[in-house]
Amino acid sequence: MPHAAAPAREIVLTGMAVSRGIAIGTVYRHDSDHVAVAETRIPASRLAAEKKRFAAAVETAQGQVAQMRAKAEGLDGAAAEELGYLLDAYQQMLHGSRLVRGVEGRIESERINAEAAVQHEIDSIAHVFEAMEDSYLSGRAADVRDLGRRLIRNLIGRDWKPFQTLPKNSVILGEELTPADTALLDPKVVAGIATQLGGAESHTAIMARSLGLPAVLGVAELMRHARSGDVVVIDGRNGRVVLNPSDDLLDAYRKMRADFLRTRRQLSRLKDLPATTRDGQRVQLEANIELPGEVASALAAGAEGIGLLRSEFLFMNRDDVPDEDEQFAAYQAVIQGMGGREVTIRTLDVGGDKLAHGLGVNPGPNPSLGLRAVRLSLARPELLEAQLAAILRASAFGRVRILVPMVATVEEIQAVRATLEKVVRRLKRAGVAMADPLPPLGVMIEVPGAALGADALAFNSDFFSIGTNDLTQYTLAIDRADEAVASLYNPLHPAVLRLIQFTTEAAKRARIPVAVCGEVAGDPRYTALLLGLGIRDLSMSATNIAVVKQRVRGLDLSAASRMARLVMEQSDAARIAGLVDGFSSADGAADRASAALMPT
Ligand code: PEP
Ligand code: MG
Repeated sequence: MPHAAAPAREIVLTGMAVSRGIAIGTVYRHDSDHVAVAETRIPASRLAAEKKRFAAAVETAQGQVAQMRAKAEGLDGAAAEELGYLLDAYQQMLHGSRLVRGVEGRIESERINAEAAVQHEIDSIAHVFEAMEDSYLSGRAADVRDLGRRLIRNLIGRDWKPFQTLPKNSVILGEELTPADTALLDPKVVAGIATQLGGAESHTAIMARSLGLPAVLGVAELMRHARSGDVVVIDGRNGRVVLNPSDDLLDAYRKMRADFLRTRRQLSRLKDLPATTRDGQRVQLEANIELPGEVASALAAGAEGIGLLRSEFLFMNRDDVPDEDEQFAAYQAVIQGMGGREVTIRTLDVGGDKLAHGLGVNPGPNPSLGLRAVRLSLARPELLEAQLAAILRASAFGRVRILVPMVATVEEIQAVRATLEKVVRRLKRAGVAMADPLPPLGVMIEVPGAALGADALAFNSDFFSIGTNDLTQYTLAIDRADEAVASLYNPLHPAVLRLIQFTTEAAKRARIPVAVCGEVAGDPRYTALLLGLGIRDLSMSATNIAVVKQRVRGLDLSAASRMARLVMEQSDAARIAGLVDGFSSADGAADRASAALMPT
């Protein structure tokens, strides 16, 4: 956003540190009313062609608005009337109005590309509206910007993605970033992120950790102060965002960043060492990934496998649904990329804060409790069958497991298994190669009812993976993505720990493997407790593998088991936190290095 040249004042804001590291860069405001577009010079010989390109984008927009109008005609009531007025206004703006003439004029006189001409013209018209006293008229600025975004998307075409033309070292500040938005960020260009909304276990936070981007969420007043182009520091250790830092503070942060990077380099030396406790217990450390492109960083971090592939990210940022062949190619790439290490592919887990528009799912009144994850897969069997077929085909290329999210009942996993068997029969008839034996089918334990029913579920599944993020959310009734209740979110609550313990013991009774793939698996604070409770397989953001490995190598399993027994006798979460942290600090030096890297 353009702004008056006021003297830059240092402003320190606080929020939740959700992804460690220090970022120093330039503010890019991610407003819903602003699209980042690059400005390029157009030679005189190509001006006519550029205006033609713009005319085509206007024509497409006219068609889109006409389509919206046709849909709106089926509606009734005040909202339909309001929508009708809005679409009338759009049509007027798209037919030889000041907007269209203004953009053409800018292409001609400023010799710039159509996208930049639209952005400038929209800014200038919107500012006129914004300055109006009448609240109805000033509110129309949002409509103008909305139409501008539509024109820019039409100009860029199918390849349009937000954040694609950011300058290097941008720091994204926004009211909110969705997990889908965050998945589009390129860590080579983006240095860090901060938002007003969002909790520490939201998928936005998880994605930031996966990308290794320092991040602070839940920063009140952030967008009131943020101005594009200003210098900003994201302190992902202490949860601070500093706008226009003084020279002294900037120097201090540069030193802190250098220290952080040095410690990270030192930890990376653990990459090829085994995760074995001091008393000889081997622990499996795997990576959680969202996109096939993360395989390289998982391997670089020393991941012994992929413990969780969040397949729903393949369905985000697009208007259609990836078909069986496209999914097969993505899974095959991960499996081959992991070179014989095991890959656990989770079936579609959309819902809650993860939206995939191409699926056309109505999130319902409560998205966290609605038609999501396995419920959606069973309600839309064509989706599940295509996904299972893609995974089965990919299983011919390496070791694969299939993991089903949000299972609450035995019937759900039985229905998935029946579908799996049906797909296997179809593929066999078609002579398609698959793994032999077939991939194991496992259940995510992330609903309290599933944890309590773990014995019955264990009879029906080949392995468990405990999703502590949702297990904590649903046990304590705390929205993991809501900063207003983030301070109440606590995986050390005795009820959550009891469910983890019960699930682990049920898996042992049924002799099936059990892992933890929630965020606690990647936080060295919890490592001793999880091992003490009997967990031997932890899956986490690749960026956390080194600190967790260091923790594993520094601890004694028999002492951790004693601590876990003591913890399980407590009824008070604060006392439990004291025992867990006391045990860690007794280990001394190993933990000081970990602490230097972890958000406080
Ligand atoms: C979890 O719920 O703990 C989990 C690992 O899955 P997600 O974070 O994708 O919901
Ligand atoms: Mg989950």
